[in-house]
Amino acid sequence: MSLTSLIISGFKSFADKTELTFDKGVTGIVGPNGSGKSNITEAVRWAMGEQSAKGLRGEHMPDVIFAGTQLRPAMNLALVTLKFDNQDRALKKDADQIEITRKIFRDGTSEFYINQKSCRLKDIVSLFLDSGIGRSSFSIISQGQVEEIFNSRPEDRRTIIEETAGIHQYKIQKETTLKKLEQTTDNLNRVEDIIAELH
Ligand code: ATP
Repeated sequence: MSLTSLIISGFKSFADKTELTFDKGVTGIVGPNGSGKSNITEAVRWAMGEQSAKGLRGEHMPDVIFAGTQLRPAMNLALVTLKFDNQDRALKKDADQIEITRKIFRDGTSEFYINQKSCRLKDIVSLFLDSGIGRSSFSIISQGQVEEIFNSRPEDRRTIIEETAGIHQYKIQKETTLKKLEQTTDNLNRVEDIIAELH
């Protein structure tokens, strides 16, 4: 599976619709300070389901929409589309090409699409979580994150390794199942109390 194309429109400094295509091998993005290099990786993270505005250097999610310049008015919609070659089926969906789109409007409402079909944010997050390249995984490493890994507590470092190895999703599923089990045990205890009272 590989990222083949990124379409950005109205996202941060990318007011105009811009398409970046990625060939096989390594792609380098170069440019002067403040020219928008980090905005490109943020666009990728955002489309993959980033839910923290602070993680995208903003206060609120609509801050990702082009805020205008002296020469150009602000916009009301940000849109990012990612296209993946999925011939190896690394993403668990039966399609050779997978297209993810995320939109946000100035009033804060959002829309999500997988292969042009409307979906929930959850569907996008789980599509990537299953593949081990979730929005919070370390397939995207931002400035400062390397130091953060070195300085992190051993438990946090373990989580990083588990996520990279693709087993973190099972831990999350295990926690959810254990919670459900606990609720079911509580319910069973209550039923037993009621039965005892009736006897
Ligand atoms: P550096 O090399 O210094 O890390 P960079 O190339 O990674 O810089 P970015 O941090 O991606 O640059 O881009 C910063 C630019 O994006 C700034 O000029 C900032 O004004 C602009 N920008 C950020 N958010 C918005 C927005 N919502 N609307 C318009 N411009 C924005």
